[in-house]
Amino acid sequence: MPGQNSAGSVHYPLGRPLGLLAVEERASQVLLCQAYPASAEIVIEAREIKPPTTQNEIKNLPSRIERLDRLAPDVMAVFLRILAREQFNYLAGQYLDIMLPQNRRRSFSIANPPHDAELLELHVRRVSRGEFTQQLFSGAAANTLIRIEGPLGQFWFREESRRPALLIGGGTGYAPLRAMLRHLLERGDRRPLHLYWGAQSRVDLYEDALVREWTARYPNFKYTPVLSNPRPEDAWDGRTGLVHKAVLEDHVDIAEFDVYTAGPPAMIEAIRHEFIARGLPRDQLFFDSFDFAPDVLAKRARQLP
Ligand SMILES: Cc1cc2nc3c(=O)[nH]c(=O)nc-3n(C[C@H](O)[C@H](O)[C@H](O)COP(=O)(O)OP(=O)(O)OC[C@H]3O[C@@H](n4cnc5c(N)ncnc54)[C@H](O)[C@@H]3O)c2cc1C
Repeated sequence: MPGQNSAGSVHYPLGRPLGLLAVEERASQVLLCQAYPASAEIVIEAREIKPPTTQNEIKNLPSRIERLDRLAPDVMAVFLRILAREQFNYLAGQYLDIMLPQNRRRSFSIANPPHDAELLELHVRRVSRGEFTQQLFSGAAANTLIRIEGPLGQFWFREESRRPALLIGGGTGYAPLRAMLRHLLERGDRRPLHLYWGAQSRVDLYEDALVREWTARYPNFKYTPVLSNPRPEDAWDGRTGLVHKAVLEDHVDIAEFDVYTAGPPAMIEAIRHEFIARGLPRDQLFFDSFDFAPDVLAKRARQLP
């Protein structure tokens, strides 16, 4: 979450995070989810972003893993049932935190829209040597009880805009975009919506068939899958390369669009640089960068020489 550091200073143990451009750092902007205080007093000016509803209070709630479905060798759908009488209200695109011991947390976007949320669906990518995701892939069972906190983040669709939208997902960055698209399409929104889904090979486009069905059902919806590393057995005759480059090739005038993007930090950083350089106004770009959790980044920083 960005803010304006108007007095005092902060530092980042691992250096400037990918989510903060050098030009933003020079303008005293800070990334509050990664910054550590470096002076006794700090004044932060925050621009308040009001969600379109007042009901999405952040709650810490017990829940149960109701079901696990393997979507791809490295992607698991996790279905959570909230075990509380309280309602869990959220906006399509937001994420939640799964709480680990010692108040540590792991963030995951909610992949289903609020109008179909009896269970909350997450799409979790296995991270090599990752504490939580490895557990999940090596036998976490249905019925496991966990605590979640949410809804979190400001990554929701600005429905008041009249511009067409480009939605760009890298890997499981598709998850929050899926929630947004289902929210819009299933409720009859007619604006042009174009999903670009970037993945390494065909198996990573784990809902390709479903998304292709949407193109047949909704005339205002377009879909472009882009593979960066197709395997010979994929027999892929679609687009190849980096997904954000495909978007730039297809749209000379990117400033006509609102752009929503989620996925690996390097992809988000490339989009922030290249789309803004191409003329996309900053306030038409919305993103969630899938960074590792703050406790892991801090631990890594402590291990640096
Ligand atoms: C807003 C947001 C939304 C997200 N949504 C999604 C989503 O929908 N789907 C999804 O798949 N991901 C999502 N992510 C990313 C997800 O949160 C991370 O992949 C997840 O936290 C990994 O958890 P883990 O416990 O498995 O790995 P961690 O234990 O956090 O480890 C991460 C990596 O750091 C390494 N590591 C850990 N400790 C150390 C150490 N001391 N020194 C050196 N290296 C170390 C591990 O080996 C591993 O490679 C999201 C992230 C954010 C911020």
